[in-house]
Amino acid sequence: MRERFWEQYPLEELTAEEWEALCDGCGQCCLLKFQDDESGELAVLNLACELLDLHSCRCSDYENRLERVPECTRLTPALIDQFRWLPHSCAYRRVAEGRKLARWHPLLSGDPERVHRKGISVRSFAVTSRGVPEEEYEDHIIAVIPID
Ligand code: SF4
Ligand code: SF4
Repeated sequence: MRERFWEQYPLEELTAEEWEALCDGCGQCCLLKFQDDESGELAVLNLACELLDLHSCRCSDYENRLERVPECTRLTPALIDQFRWLPHSCAYRRVAEGRKLARWHPLLSGDPERVHRKGISVRSFAVTSRGVPEEEYEDHIIAVIPID
């Protein structure tokens, strides 16, 4: 990977390896969410996609994720203008908005555990959505956030 590629090149010019390395491994994008059609607000649940490994906060079947979970979104530079549903901490959103990576990001810290120790990842609170009936989803809302 090129040195500090995230500062030197726009997202659409990153190699596949650089693009993947940009993910900080927080797992926040793998929490279930629902958007209110009228207000546009996003309800975020503590329920994680059934494929999320709750300890590593990484997808347990990344290669086949789109076939196994149709709702999963494959982030690409072409979707940059839709990144507002991602958390402010997300490295893709940061770079797309011209912000710096956080100091805890693995590319800067060299330590993939720091995102968990800093409480950025979902490791400490997420539970699997597997087996949870949809009528109980409302009980799992942990935040309602405006899409800004
Ligand atoms: S929110 Fe962003 S940085 Fe975090 S896991 Fe998802 S894509 Fe990676
Ligand atoms: S399929 Fe994998 S990447 Fe997609 S939302 Fe689920 S855990 Fe996340």
